[in-house]
Amino acid sequence: MIYVDLDDTLSDMTPYALEYLGVRDYDPTIWTLNKHILWPERRIWNHLGMDFWSTMPKSVDFERLVGMLPTFTVLTALPPFNYHDCINGKLEWMDKHLNDVKIIFSNAKERYADPKSILIDDSEINIQRFNESLGLGFLVPRPWNKGISIFDKLQLHLAPLERAENIQLH
Ligand SMILES: [Mg+2]
Repeated sequence: MIYVDLDDTLSDMTPYALEYLGVRDYDPTIWTLNKHILWPERRIWNHLGMDFWSTMPKSVDFERLVGMLPTFTVLTALPPFNYHDCINGKLEWMDKHLNDVKIIFSNAKERYADPKSILIDDSEINIQRFNESLGLGFLVPRPWNKGISIFDKLQLHLAPLERAENIQLH
C-alpha cells in the first residue's frame, strides 16, 4: 500500500495557516505553528476551523504525485485541539480534490508500515519512524527538512509495482 501525507505534502498547510493566522515575515525553515505566534496552542487550533482545512491550496507536488501513483491512501494526522473541524474540513478537501481516494486519520503513521508499504511525507520524524517499522519512507523536500527530490527514486520503486499489477496468475 502507498500512503501519502496531506498537510504540506499534498496541501500547502503551513504557509496557508500562517497567512490565516496573520503571521507575516516568518522563518520558512520552521514548520511548528506555535513557534511563529505567541498564542496558546488551543487558540491557534480553534482559529483554524473547518473553512481553513477545506480551503487549503494544493501543494506544488500535488499534480505530479497524484499522476504518478497507481493507487494510494491519504494518511493524515489530527491537531491536539479542535480535531472535529479538522476531520470535517479535510473530508471536504478530499471531496474537492481526491474524491475517490480513501483517507485515514492517525497520529501514529508507523502503525501502517510493513515491508510492502510506502509513506510519502514531509515530516522527518514520520519518515524515520516508518522506516524503523520496516516500511519505505520518502521525504518530500520542504524548507524545514533535508529532503531532496523524490520523484526519480519513487519511479524506480513504482515500476515493479506496475509490472506486478499487469501480471495475471492462472
Ligand atoms: Mg505533513
